[in-house]
Amino acid sequence: MPYNELRKDYLLNRWVVIATERARRPTDFARQKTEPAKTTTCPLCPGNENMTPPATMVYLRSNGEIHKDKEQGDFRHKNWLIRVIPNLYPAFAPPKESADTEQIMKSSNFGYAIGHHEVLIESPNHTDHPADVELPQLIRLVNAYKDRLNDISAKPYVRYVQIFRNHGLEAGASLSHAHSQLIASPFVPTTVNQEQEASKTYFTDHKTCVFCDLIKQETRTQRFIADNAHFTVFSPYASVHPMEFWIIPKRHSMNILSLTAEETEAFAKTLKSTLKALKNLINDPPYNFGIHLSLNKENHDYYHWHLEVYPHLAIWAGFEKSTAMYINTVTPETAAQELKKALNA
Ligand SMILES: [Zn+2]
Ligand SMILES: [Zn+2]
Ligand SMILES: [Zn+2]
Repeated sequence: MPYNELRKDYLLNRWVVIATERARRPTDFARQKTEPAKTTTCPLCPGNENMTPPATMVYLRSNGEIHKDKEQGDFRHKNWLIRVIPNLYPAFAPPKESADTEQIMKSSNFGYAIGHHEVLIESPNHTDHPADVELPQLIRLVNAYKDRLNDISAKPYVRYVQIFRNHGLEAGASLSHAHSQLIASPFVPTTVNQEQEASKTYFTDHKTCVFCDLIKQETRTQRFIADNAHFTVFSPYASVHPMEFWIIPKRHSMNILSLTAEETEAFAKTLKSTLKALKNLINDPPYNFGIHLSLNKENHDYYHWHLEVYPHLAIWAGFEKSTAMYINTVTPETAAQELKKALNA
């Protein structure tokens, strides 16, 4: 019997056991859809705006054009297209006084969680998730990501902005209304920092960007899923999640702020089609995604933004929790081939 494989991440010091012998088919994970719990009033649905704090940004349509506004006090806009609000229970909260930002980290192991935590309501329609929403609305969402990133990253106390999405109760979405979140922190979180440091080392050694090289390399492997003029999609070599995949822009860029209108549309299309393939293949599984990026100009030459999708299909138990080493029972090669089939079905 052949051995299971030990694989190390491209950049992180993180190992995974690819269980080739116990390998499962992606469709093994398909589950009976449980009826969504009868919700009480959805605070994110139109008409309930007063249940939420005033928006930091709203997209409204007037005369066929989109314009942006914010809300204050008790005033709430109606007929919005996208609405961005502060999280009611923020993990990172804005400074109460500007003096609070002078020294956020008080020592090497203590600081205040000063930053931002926002909820981006993706659509007035409760069930407009990215796999099913109309493309123009998903393009608006990507533009909202860019607008909030632009505003928040300009604040002097913000070092990183994590844009992410939790889909399904098991993946941490406590509200079922289609929404994304962002958290701005006063330092670069460990995983992203490790990626940035490792890509800097790679650049010093090879004089090229590791992600640009990965696009070329993975396009020729069984892990390749799809590409178009602007984006490449593949399952990473050392995926820790069954059915994990990454979406990477072909044009080298360290964050999403430089996306052109054409690239924004291509990104929305790629996101929608791949999430739809995942949904069709495994009966709408819970998942998380996150955008890794850099806000530090020094990283410009060697860091390359990307979106990582983590389907929530495995339970991390004693081994994973005690070692931070993972066991993945779907090989990335199988994941990619199945996603590719579902994409082209
Ligand atoms: Zn709703
Ligand atoms: Zn690159
Ligand atoms: Zn990453």
